[in-house]
Amino acid sequence: MKKFVSSFKIKIKEIRTQHRIPWKSPKFIVGAITFMVVIGSTTVYLTSTSSAAYIIVNGEKTGIVASVERGQYLIDNVLAKRGKAINKAAKTKDHIEYKLVRVNKAELLGELSTKNELEKKLTSYIDGYALNVAGTQIAILPSQEDIQKVLKLYQDFYTKPSDNNKISSVEFSESISTKPVEVQPDQVKRPDEVLKELESGKTTTTEYTIQENDSWWIIARKNNMKTQEVLASNPGMTEDSRILAGQKIKLTSVSPYLTVISKGILTSKEIIAFDVLTETDEKLSSGETVVKEQGSDGEKLVTYSYQQQNGKDITKGVVDEKIIKSPVSQIVVKGPSRAPISVASLSRGSGSTSGIAWPLRGSINSYYGNRHGSFHTGLDIGGDIGEPYTAAASGTIVAAGWGGGYGNMILINHGNGVMTRYAHSSRLLVSVGQKVSRGQTIGLVGSTGNSTGPHLHFEVILNGDTANPLSYLR
Ligand SMILES: [Zn+2]
Repeated sequence: MKKFVSSFKIKIKEIRTQHRIPWKSPKFIVGAITFMVVIGSTTVYLTSTSSAAYIIVNGEKTGIVASVERGQYLIDNVLAKRGKAINKAAKTKDHIEYKLVRVNKAELLGELSTKNELEKKLTSYIDGYALNVAGTQIAILPSQEDIQKVLKLYQDFYTKPSDNNKISSVEFSESISTKPVEVQPDQVKRPDEVLKELESGKTTTTEYTIQENDSWWIIARKNNMKTQEVLASNPGMTEDSRILAGQKIKLTSVSPYLTVISKGILTSKEIIAFDVLTETDEKLSSGETVVKEQGSDGEKLVTYSYQQQNGKDITKGVVDEKIIKSPVSQIVVKGPSRAPISVASLSRGSGSTSGIAWPLRGSINSYYGNRHGSFHTGLDIGGDIGEPYTAAASGTIVAAGWGGGYGNMILINHGNGVMTRYAHSSRLLVSVGQKVSRGQTIGLVGSTGNSTGPHLHFEVILNGDTANPLSYLR
């Protein structure tokens, strides 16, 4: 046993002896230099490299960043940018991991390419809300609040609430629902975009084959459209463009996405047109007129109770009327009336200016003649509120003002016992005594007086009796 121990000691001693290197020996110098090189290069290594992180998207290395925080910042940036247009950050369901490493500092200069890589590889979505009308999705918005806001503004677009127009109830006739959806950022629209789309309505385009004897005007009438609308559906076409039977054209109609049903009380200041009283004076020559007393319009405050569908009156009745200023009648003295003239004088005259021209291009909503047990004294031509209409022939304005059931009305005397009347206007652009020429704009289409919707009620009056305008319109 003792022997063994001593031999062991000896062995160790031997080893030590073997490895002892005198400091002056070449072996020691080489070793020292090697050691210093290692220490030195470690220092170089630590100063030329940096801690970094690989971004791993769904298990795939997608670039390098200085830190996890920096990586998260870049991802947030990419997602925010995708939702920027709708002011809502996109989200991702991608699995994102970071692998911490040390890399050569130069490698970190490639952060821009990391961002580009993220833009390419990162999948994203938006938490949006779908707006469904009668079961059909019509838009996706960023939030429920945005949907409510759009619907409210759409109602206001039609109901036009104001101090003079108090809305008592408003609702949609279609069922409306909203549903949370996860969609691509470009599928979500801003509230103002959706509102604009809703306001401009749903466009439907159908094809129409030209029939024998069709004209732009006839096509419009057949399809309950206006000539301008038919032309607008076919870019490049004008009223003078020739059409041939068999030729195909497009008919584009616009209908609202949503129907707003509202009730309200409207107060409006209206003009009471003065009456014109005529006296005959045998001392004046035939056809001569003298204004004995100048008339002046009155003013009244009328309160209506109404029900509307998309801003158009369904029912409208006067609940109160206050006269602010009474009208003063105009007294006109006339010479003795001349002999009655024949209808034929209407179609006389020179070339294309003979007869009377359409005062408005639009569908015929009602013809002259018997209607529901009463007699309709004119032609109802459809138009939009504010659409200008023109004088059917040259003449002198003999009435321009409120005409009871006619609403705001214009009467033109064309001479030779011929007069034309224009009723239900929203505005009159001429005044009594004014001379107008054929085709001159004299008023704007409206729905005033006894009217169920915007249109122009047009009468042709021959020697005091109404006549069928279609017999004289060219
Ligand atoms: Zn009418």
